[in-house]
Amino acid sequence: MDPLSTGSGSRRLPRSFDRIGSGARTLVGMRDGGHRQIRRLILWDVDGTLLSAGPTGRDAFFAAAGSVLAREVPDNGVQMSGKTDPLIALEILERAGLGRAEARELLPDVLAALAEHVAEGSDRIAREGRVHPGVLDLLERLHARADVVQSVLTGNLAVNTRVKVSAFGLERFLDLDVGAFGSDHQERDRLVPIAVERVRERYGSTPGATWVIGDTDRDLACARAGGARCLLVATGRIPFDELHGIGADAVLPNLSYTDAVLDILFGEPGKAWAVAVVGNVAEEGEDEEASL
Ligand SMILES: [Mg+2]
Repeated sequence: MDPLSTGSGSRRLPRSFDRIGSGARTLVGMRDGGHRQIRRLILWDVDGTLLSAGPTGRDAFFAAAGSVLAREVPDNGVQMSGKTDPLIALEILERAGLGRAEARELLPDVLAALAEHVAEGSDRIAREGRVHPGVLDLLERLHARADVVQSVLTGNLAVNTRVKVSAFGLERFLDLDVGAFGSDHQERDRLVPIAVERVRERYGSTPGATWVIGDTDRDLACARAGGARCLLVATGRIPFDELHGIGADAVLPNLSYTDAVLDILFGEPGKAWAVAVVGNVAEEGEDEEASL
């Protein structure tokens, strides 16, 4: 077992390994028997966390459903945040009047059409979308560490994920081969173990701890279902005030607090950071500890 592993969360890292520094990196980054010791697996959510793809992502669903049903499918207001692509597609088909069985039958065709529309929209995503504050800096700083693997945990199909992150050049920081996607399972709660197993197979090592970084309660639920820690950021559709009371390990308004994020990711297990890190966000008179 990795001697620096935080395992179930009951073991405390030696203080000297608890901060980012060249010494710690030298020690924990070394290879052992050809296996890379992974202190942290960072699983990024894509939409609302790393980036916003603009209207292309949403439009592609209705265009895909329309092309398969051979009729116009107007935007019926289905809520997409935190859901997997298959789940979103099923909801759109059912709201368009199809029964559950028929929707399931057409799902593969709709997902294939969705992938085509997203790929065709790559330039538009780059033009109308954006990377969220602090993301590039964090990706770079984490990428520089030999003891960290970064990938994604997303409801997007794998092909759509690649298009979205590549539209902004983020793929160079991410090992997308070990990610977990909406194409792996319709239920997001099943995705953390898939990514961890892929990391084991590829790197021959179990991560000391896995973090899910996301923007919705669904990111938190999937982290908990998979035994991972969770940092939530309010750069998606859910405001900070709603996110910080739902039980994540940490919550931030956005990822521009890069030093704080790194402290959170490499800090002591079980410590609650959120409002303590960004004290001015807390409402006046609020009990910060209780609010976490
Ligand atoms: Mg999201």
